Amino acid sequence: MAQIIYSQLLDLALASDAVSGDCRCNRVPLTAWQALPMTLELDRFEEVGTLVDDPYDEPTFAEYHPHGTRYDSPDAPIAPRYYPCNLSQVARCRDCGRHYLRYNEAGGYFTELRIRALQARLLVDAERH
Ligand SMILES: [Zn+2]
Repeated sequence: MAQIIYSQLLDLALASDAVSGDCRCNRVPLTAWQALPMTLELDRFEEVGTLVDDPYDEPTFAEYHPHGTRYDSPDAPIAPRYYPCNLSQVARCRDCGRHYLRYNEAGGYFTELRIRALQARLLVDAERH
């Protein structure tokens, strides 16, 4: 899958922000990370590319919250080099063209597909420390 660099991600986010109107994909607000809602069918999305930098590299689980947000805050930054964006794929809704990030959250005994809307105002090109 094609790797998406920051400038492309920003373009996809801006394209997404420009989409207005209702769609099946935004009936449930997806501004914060959450489990894929049951109402969303995976085949309504097409994969655009991945934010995974190097699949053979051990990914960081460090999150990026310089302003006191948390993992599931609606205003948490979207920083591609930080968890969980660094594990995410970018998907596009086939119906309306909005873009989403999604990844598999793997716990000890489960994996869960999680999704979040790609939002240009929250994107941060933060370097990993
Ligand atoms: Zn849609």
